[in-house]
Amino acid sequence: MRMNKTAILLVAMTMLGTLISGCGGANETPNTKSGTNEHQTQSQVVQPLSETYFIFDTIVNVKIYDNRATKQNLEDVEALLKDIDQKINRQLEGSEIYKVNENSGIAAVQVSEETYNLVAKAMDYAKRTNGMFDPAIGNLVSLWNIGHEGAHVPEPEEIAEAQKLCDYRKIELNEANHEIYLQEKGMSIDLGSIGKGYAADKIYEYLADQGFNSAIIDLGGNVYAMGQKPGNLPWNIGIQDPDQERGNPIGTIKVEDKTIVTSGIYERFFIEDGKLYQHILDPRTGYPVDNGISSVTIVTNSSTNADALSTTLFVLGIEDGLKFIENTEDTEALFISKDKKLFASSGFKEMLNKTNDSYEFDN
Ligand code: ADP
Ligand code: MG
Repeated sequence: MRMNKTAILLVAMTMLGTLISGCGGANETPNTKSGTNEHQTQSQVVQPLSETYFIFDTIVNVKIYDNRATKQNLEDVEALLKDIDQKINRQLEGSEIYKVNENSGIAAVQVSEETYNLVAKAMDYAKRTNGMFDPAIGNLVSLWNIGHEGAHVPEPEEIAEAQKLCDYRKIELNEANHEIYLQEKGMSIDLGSIGKGYAADKIYEYLADQGFNSAIIDLGGNVYAMGQKPGNLPWNIGIQDPDQERGNPIGTIKVEDKTIVTSGIYERFFIEDGKLYQHILDPRTGYPVDNGISSVTIVTNSSTNADALSTTLFVLGIEDGLKFIENTEDTEALFISKDKKLFASSGFKEMLNKTNDSYEFDN
């Protein structure tokens, strides 16, 4: 059986406990949630300095491959993650996004430039997809509560009500003073679709500033493979088989200095009356997207974009998703369908070293 949410949380809490008690360091940690797994094929001279954190409901693991890396660097990463949480976690009382939501229908709220830019970026995706990607999705996300204890199919009336409050066109942005105003009372911005990618980019920037150029930054399926693997080698990243336990890839890709982000139906879900309800919602229906996709993986340079894109392509579906990606520079995508077919952008097809025969390319 795959790990359910409670189990993941328990593991995460245990890890957090380890962190708090100060036992950080270069230990290998189990990779329980990532959609992509790094495979080390040869023994390496440089042992990574590694730490595990828990944030955004997600296990975060950072490995720095550099003998100069110190415990201070790991603590800085932790502080950085906490800062991001304080800014964009809508469930954290007092965070910037919390305040924006709290003041919906009442007043505009001034936020930091970083938060403003992230919301603005999410808005771009909303516009480009006509609201299929919608950062104002908070009410539907809360109602479905997928990935949390007690999740069940809500009543149609409840869904209709929540749906009315999910409309990015009612988010007002004022660039001059970084204010955000939600026009209707009860509206809620949710950055769950983009926040982990953003955090990966921030960690990357920090490590680069410190002079490091080899690291694996992994926020539960949202990976940045920084630079090269020690020995001037490309990283070898596994693409998770959506139907198998963690660590079973359908194949691998070799990358250097790229982010690899997966959105999958196995990430967060619940099952009711034999039907699986996953956590990416269709704003048009108010229900989880149910379009035959098992997972979408994006490979590009910006993890923020990759995170937004993995969610975007999931809602758009295979055909529109592939069109969308062919118009996006330096970005590759792979869809895995529930019936075990692979649909890839041209560049991804070239990259993928498929090792699992039960999956076949369909395009
Ligand atoms: P994961 O959290 O597993 O990495 P994603 O990056 O694909 O997954 O983001 C899914 C999250 O995005 C959901 O948990 C929810 O918070 C939010 N979300 C769900 N549906 C949409 C949507 N249509 N547009 C924007 N955000 C969404
Ligand atoms: Mg995403």
